[in-house]
Amino acid sequence: MIQEVFNRRGILYNIRFFLQVQNNIHIFVFVHGTRISVHIKPFQMKLGKYSFGTGDRFNHQGEAQLRAIMKAAAQGIDITPVWNKSNREHNIVHSEPEGTRTEADTAVKALGWDKPYFVDADHINLSNVDRFVEHADFFTIDVASFIGKKASTGEVEAFMESCAALGNEVAIDGISDPVVINKKVLEKAAGSYLAAVKEAGRIYRHIESIKGTGKFITEISMDEVDTPQTPIDMFFILKMIADEKIPVQTIAPKFTGRFNKGVDYEGDVSKFAIEFEQDVLVINHAVKAFSLPAGLKLSVHSGSDKFSIYPVIADIIKKYKVGIHVKTAGTTWLEEVIGLAISGVEGLVVAKDIYRKAFERKEELCAPYADVISINDSNLPSPGDVAGWTGEKFAGTLRHIPGHKDYNPDFRQLIHVGYKVASEMGLVYIKLLEKYAQVIGGCVEENIYDRHLKRLFNL
Ligand SMILES: [Zn+2]
Repeated sequence: MIQEVFNRRGILYNIRFFLQVQNNIHIFVFVHGTRISVHIKPFQMKLGKYSFGTGDRFNHQGEAQLRAIMKAAAQGIDITPVWNKSNREHNIVHSEPEGTRTEADTAVKALGWDKPYFVDADHINLSNVDRFVEHADFFTIDVASFIGKKASTGEVEAFMESCAALGNEVAIDGISDPVVINKKVLEKAAGSYLAAVKEAGRIYRHIESIKGTGKFITEISMDEVDTPQTPIDMFFILKMIADEKIPVQTIAPKFTGRFNKGVDYEGDVSKFAIEFEQDVLVINHAVKAFSLPAGLKLSVHSGSDKFSIYPVIADIIKKYKVGIHVKTAGTTWLEEVIGLAISGVEGLVVAKDIYRKAFERKEELCAPYADVISINDSNLPSPGDVAGWTGEKFAGTLRHIPGHKDYNPDFRQLIHVGYKVASEMGLVYIKLLEKYAQVIGGCVEENIYDRHLKRLFNL
């Protein structure tokens, strides 16, 4: 790449260019007036400032999802699309990561998208990452299950030693109370998070050994747990990540409150606002103090439908000019069911069938999502009642329009976990997706653009 900058008289005075040599090494040459400087840097794939992760259980909505991102681009907001699918989802629908890659590449080609995009191996660990390595270039390293495990004595000692340089307290710009550093605080942080970050390091290095340095985006997630991580926890987690030399670009903590799948935030919005702002401030501090990658940002998991906190997120990222990654939670699948319900009798019959089966198998379907689902059984309509509904009534009950007379978040959450039922319908379901692609695609695009991107980016 060569970039030339001319002064007002049109005389070339500043040239920057870089060359890629060998694997990952780039040489940057700056000519500024008469000065020439040369920098040698390893190449690192970078995620854009704003990025949006969309999942797609059945790999049919890639183009509709990308159309929503392109609509935002046409309004001047550049958002990097990321297609994510977790190991859990692949296991439930019996799909392979290659399908997500094909879907993303096909959508990008069909719509002529010429900006970056990524395929996210979502919530992976050492035992399942290998099936993703070839097809993904974004890895969400999930170490939630290692929180609270014991690190070795040597590891704890090394961490305590590396913190000695921090002194007795660390002041963070914008936060009134400093982070207090003492033996007790460090032992507590190590007891909670050191084993988890060490595991993240092992997983990161495993991926790096196959894909090469800088050839993928790294996210670390700890969100699927009961206890939130505070901004102080975030400070120590980032210190450990820096010590472990993981070039993390996004981090997904467990925030205060409940982030149930597919429905609005449940919790104290003002408390969330304080925590989110302090997390941003801690990250900004850690990027400089611990030499973490510039542009490191928060990732909000189960981030779709959290309409009551979107204004808070929008304000804070604007205030500090920072980026955000929002990972949605299977809402594309819900739009498929909505689309089927309004597409005519054939689709409505299948939509009702999905609800009836999900209702009968509620416990089994909810089990893998215990931390991120909360259904009040008494609000669930009986399948017998639903059998008499019109398509509009079904869609209105399922579609997330706050204040809509029919909207039922319990009904929505149950269908959310019910995709296993659709996957068991096999080709019957897939053929309907294809037959009613236009109606369904319209629902998917509207959901992402009108209900999400517009709210998040003030479009
Ligand atoms: Zn998550």
